[in-house]
Amino acid sequence: MADPGTTGEFALIDWIRRQEPERPVDSWTRVGIGDDCAILAVGEGTGAGCDLLITTDMLMDGRHFHLEQGGPEAVGFKAMGVNLSDIAAMAGIPRAAVVAVALPRANAVEIAHGLHAGMRALADRFAVDLVGGDTNAWDGPLVITVTVLGQATVRGAVRRSGARPGDVILVTGALGGSLAAGRHLKPEPRIAEALAIHRAADIHAMIDLSDGLSSDLGHILAESGGLGAVLDAVAIPIHPDAHEQTRRDGVSALEHALHDGEDFELCLTVAPEAAERLLAAHPAPLYRIGEVTDAAGVFLRSPDGHTTPVEPRGFDHLRAGNER
Ligand SMILES: [Mg+2]
Repeated sequence: MADPGTTGEFALIDWIRRQEPERPVDSWTRVGIGDDCAILAVGEGTGAGCDLLITTDMLMDGRHFHLEQGGPEAVGFKAMGVNLSDIAAMAGIPRAAVVAVALPRANAVEIAHGLHAGMRALADRFAVDLVGGDTNAWDGPLVITVTVLGQATVRGAVRRSGARPGDVILVTGALGGSLAAGRHLKPEPRIAEALAIHRAADIHAMIDLSDGLSSDLGHILAESGGLGAVLDAVAIPIHPDAHEQTRRDGVSALEHALHDGEDFELCLTVAPEAAERLLAAHPAPLYRIGEVTDAAGVFLRSPDGHTTPVEPRGFDHLRAGNER
């Protein structure tokens, strides 16, 4: 196999996915690799089953955060938040978390206390129990892996793969510049928003914006059978932080909104009638940014109708230089 450091994260995930049997060997496995969460059909065949959602994320000092800058509490908050965001992406209800940590030996206990306080802050808000894990100390940097278990509602988990041509594309909030003011450390998992939208309308496909709109929308389109999208340049909600980022680097705020990662808003697709209903009833903040097309490729439409291609340029964890 090629060096994952040069082939990129998505190529590696794709490789692992292809090594797994095409048909799951266990009857509980409903959805495996390739979505925001795996789905296990717990109690399949007993008549009292439910769909269990599972997601995990590893954060490493020097790669995903800098411990000396934000402190352990911010790290704990983020580690819990990114996982809850993946549960939100399936329109699920988070239930419990397990946490594995590699603590720097020098001040392991102090760091652990901080991590716990940060995780607990979000776990309290979303009624999540911390039910286990593993603690280690070593001479290396802090590494934390949180795994969250959730439950799909009776309306079912929302996958990435259900987008249809003609669907309206919506996002739940303003995008871009998450690094400018440290917003990337404070994810706001859109759990309540996802559940409210899912109650009000049939969501065809959904993903949380962790790698950037261009990349994450690309995942929906690829998983939905190679569809495309046209985005309205003036409709994309731009976060004030994106403008701040523009002042620093000269890259346009729209570019930041399209490609920056770690907004942790949701991107979803719904039928046009459902979009009308949602935008009128407003069960959560929602912005209509474009529509799904039959032809592959993502395009940006300016007000005069001119379209230009958008290349996915979001965050790839294995690409050199991608450190935040
Ligand atoms: Mg995700």
